[in-house]
Amino acid sequence: MADVESRSWIGGEWAAQAGEIVEVHDPSEVSREVGLLHLSEAAAASEAVEAARYASAAWDRQGSPARAEALSAMAAALERDREAVAALASQEMGKPITEMRGEVARGVQILRFYAAEGVRAVGEVIPHSQTQVLQYTTRRPLGVVGIITPWNFPVAIPLWKIAPALLCGNTVVWKPAESASLTAARLAQLAAASGLPAGVLNLVVGRGSEVGQALVEAAPLDGLSFTGSTATGMRVAAAAAARNIKYQVEMGGKNAAVVLNDADVDLAVSAVVSGAFRSAGQKCTATSRIIVQDGVYGAFCDRLRQAMRAVRLGPALHPDTYVGPLASEAQFEKVSRYAHQAARATVVAQAPVEGVDLGAGYFVPPTVVTDVAPGDPLVQEEIFGPLAAILRCASFDEAVALCNQTVYGLSAAVFTRDLSQGLKFLDAADAGMVRVNQETAGVEYAAPFGGLKQSGSHSREQGTAALDFYSHTKTCAVYYGP
Ligand code: NDP
Repeated sequence: MADVESRSWIGGEWAAQAGEIVEVHDPSEVSREVGLLHLSEAAAASEAVEAARYASAAWDRQGSPARAEALSAMAAALERDREAVAALASQEMGKPITEMRGEVARGVQILRFYAAEGVRAVGEVIPHSQTQVLQYTTRRPLGVVGIITPWNFPVAIPLWKIAPALLCGNTVVWKPAESASLTAARLAQLAAASGLPAGVLNLVVGRGSEVGQALVEAAPLDGLSFTGSTATGMRVAAAAAARNIKYQVEMGGKNAAVVLNDADVDLAVSAVVSGAFRSAGQKCTATSRIIVQDGVYGAFCDRLRQAMRAVRLGPALHPDTYVGPLASEAQFEKVSRYAHQAARATVVAQAPVEGVDLGAGYFVPPTVVTDVAPGDPLVQEEIFGPLAAILRCASFDEAVALCNQTVYGLSAAVFTRDLSQGLKFLDAADAGMVRVNQETAGVEYAAPFGGLKQSGSHSREQGTAALDFYSHTKTCAVYYGP
């Protein structure tokens, strides 16, 4: 019997009872139960918004230096509990413990970053055409913000939304992914223990199609931030636009790493392996297309084959595991369909599976294929698993054309020793985050995060860009004459 539970936390209280109870199983060993979810029904969305609304005025009045203290206290609480949070998340959604520890540390940094923003200058003074008028801008909170998060970064994504939302003076209703709801409840517990006032952060645990949809379509929100699939994100965006709620949706990616003839091949291979296979490829910024120029193709494939021999597939809690299982049965079924398609292409490299009990969990061996057409589903669709495809190209221009031949535009990288080609690529690649000699995944929390085309709604998260989303700018003018 599981002793770990998750349920909604509304107005500073854990929901007394809810409808359906769902068992959570470890994706590394699916026969092992790790916890229970008490799923709330749709009405919980409006109840949580009501609680958040009630807490809103007092939270706004506290001022940002006091709110910054609250974020610092949350950072300290998370840091103290970091090992337990990382272990819980690894068992809930299968991210290897070494990566999960890094993600929790990132969560602490995010909280501290926004805490520091709480004492910085806000707004600007703008000369007025009339004398004796002080004209300036300031930021005001949106009010109650809905936050809907995926399971692939169960700590970092929620915190990079919640922390700037709270700092700006909003109160929050957070709907985590079902596959990350145990971790979400632990984070809510830590927030409560660190002294966050009741109702400032509310958690609704339930199905996306019920509680999530009720939040998006009916609950009286003032702002909405979503990360997840493009299909759901587009529906969320349409519903928010129809209600004229300020919204942002961060969605899918099909990110390319371009390897030019003059690349440092060792550097490119190590960035491609990490970009494609950490988190079992379940990152929106994961490398899933590798575009290699003819002159380096043979050397790149040879080095990649060697590097893949060292990629360790295994249970998430094992300290040597580099690639863990997929997060859930739904993920496993979806990615397995692509793996069957990939098996019909030419396999360039695959991680060893000896010693791995593939049947125990949701394991899919990391694989790189080639000889696939640029229009193939493996090259065009977001697989969100440990599969990547190599495309060959003859020239820089062809590489850029292939890189941009996608509906997505999140992240792109080029590997070259030629600064001029690198800079030209940064201009030409249709992606919100572009790199030279760096992997497509792995983003600094102080820098803007977001994509072009179908990857997002064109606003940015993280860094100070997030403060623009979670606040309104007010233009103030004060006549103090004659
Ligand atoms: P979804 O986009 O459906 O889920 C993301 C979040 O939205 C979850 O919290 C989910 O809740 C919630 N949600 C689901 N339906 C609705 C709705 N109608 N209204 C409001 N909220 C809703 O992604 P999945 O988890 O189902 O994953 C499916 C695929 O999406 C993956 O295989 C991957 O390709 C892609 N994906 C991409 C991500 C990215 O960052 N690019 C992140 C996650 C997924 P619940 O979990 O309870 O359904």
